[in-house]
Amino acid sequence: MSTELLLVGGERVPAAEEGTFTVIEPGNGSPMADVAEAGPEDARRAVDVAVEAFDEGSWPRTSATERGRVLLRASVLVRERLEELAQLEARNVGKPIRDARDEIGIVADTLEYWGGAANKIFGETVPVQDPGLDVTLREPVGVCALITPWNFPLVIATWKLSPALACGNTIVVKPASLTPLSLLRLADILAEAGLPAGTLSVLPGPGSSVGNALVTDPRVAKVGFTGSTEIGSAIMALAARNITRISLELGGKSANVVFADADMDTCVERSMWAVFGNTGQDCCARSRIFVERPAYDGFVEALAERTDGLRVGQPLSEETDLGPLISSGQRQTAVDYLEIGQKEGARLITGGDVPEVPDGANGFYLRPAILADVDNAWRVAQEEIFGPVACVIPFDTEEEAIRLANETEYGLSGSIWTRDLGRAIRVAKGIRTGVLSVNSSHSVHTEAPFGGYKRSGIGREMGMHAVNLYTEVKNVYFSEA
Ligand code: NAD
Ligand code: MN
Repeated sequence: MSTELLLVGGERVPAAEEGTFTVIEPGNGSPMADVAEAGPEDARRAVDVAVEAFDEGSWPRTSATERGRVLLRASVLVRERLEELAQLEARNVGKPIRDARDEIGIVADTLEYWGGAANKIFGETVPVQDPGLDVTLREPVGVCALITPWNFPLVIATWKLSPALACGNTIVVKPASLTPLSLLRLADILAEAGLPAGTLSVLPGPGSSVGNALVTDPRVAKVGFTGSTEIGSAIMALAARNITRISLELGGKSANVVFADADMDTCVERSMWAVFGNTGQDCCARSRIFVERPAYDGFVEALAERTDGLRVGQPLSEETDLGPLISSGQRQTAVDYLEIGQKEGARLITGGDVPEVPDGANGFYLRPAILADVDNAWRVAQEEIFGPVACVIPFDTEEEAIRLANETEYGLSGSIWTRDLGRAIRVAKGIRTGVLSVNSSHSVHTEAPFGGYKRSGIGREMGMHAVNLYTEVKNVYFSEA
């Protein structure tokens, strides 16, 4: 097995402390690659390079149009290599190859969006009272440290680095240690597309060392983080030392609200994917399913029947609907919660056992599980499980549905199922969450803002809202006198 090196200053280099770590394939538990393990010294070097690239390098001084062209070329290259990137992502995360292809398509879409957007980011003229001209400038923030999780590694990294680059920043990305491989490939592609050396560095390694060093470096102007609420909170405290700008995309426990008048076939099918997609390892997972009482029994039965038909299997198989979890620890967490939920009084309807998967005896597979008759106050309904566990909860009135949906510390995503337009509007306005979909489980769009209320985060990525995360606003007044 060859060793994947760090990317610093346009070169692939070993870690300063020369350590490496092994990346595992969750589908079979086998080693997939050795990767240089960055530490604090590598973080310092990468920030040195990013500071120089920001202060003296060409990227912030290149026209916005040319910056956009680099991103557009990268988008084309990603589409050309979609299958290769999808296979790498599928193997490393354990996700079904069909999903991985969709995700690499989103990576290409995102680069394309920001390629087109780069020269459409501009300031304003402001009618101040004093004689003259007042204008605002949108300037890059500076060196951005971007820290990403393992569940959608390349998509989430691209959501951050594309707007950051479009706005003229220089960046250091620290991918999750479990899944660093696809980002290293994308960095190669960006270089091939014309991104100047040193504009982007990639440092795989532990959050507690290299991640921490990036967040506390006073030369880092902005931290963009996606991950757990616990780590996000710790990082926010670290960033406070230097008043470092920060945006956070954190955990969720989102509601799927089903009224009895919904189109049930579609609703059951989409509700199932909304909680079990990516084997439940999705910050937007609609893991609390609220069902209006008259439809409740039928819904639980139909959901169980459909869920039992899901094919759990090897990531690279075209037949697979759900792959393994990322690690044995993540699987154990899900199993533990199933026990906690049953002790709290929930009914296990189906799943929660380990399926037989060809060549998968050492993989981290688990059959998707449904807990019914859950009380929203219980731990299984309040804590993010990040595994294939659905909690189904009955309700009686629209007001109760809104109240229950909001009784959570999180506020990321959610879905509403009803044919009553007035009700859809009232419930959509009532639920305190950053992203909602009505009669759909599709809540994340390249072109639309994405982010959380409450403990699900701060800031909005995606769409033109992301410009706010990666620019400073400068106001300049020109006196006429
Ligand atoms: P995590 O919080 O464990 O780690 C996220 C990243 O932070 C990793 O790269 C990790 O190495 C790094 N990190 C850890 N400690 C650090 C420190 N002290 N300083 C700097 N960096 C540090 O999250 P995870 O297990 O990789 O991902 C799962 C979590 O991410 C879930 O809670 C999920 O809800 C959340 N998530 C949120 C979104 C969103 O957009 N809201 C998207 C995906 C995942
Ligand atoms: Mn984690």
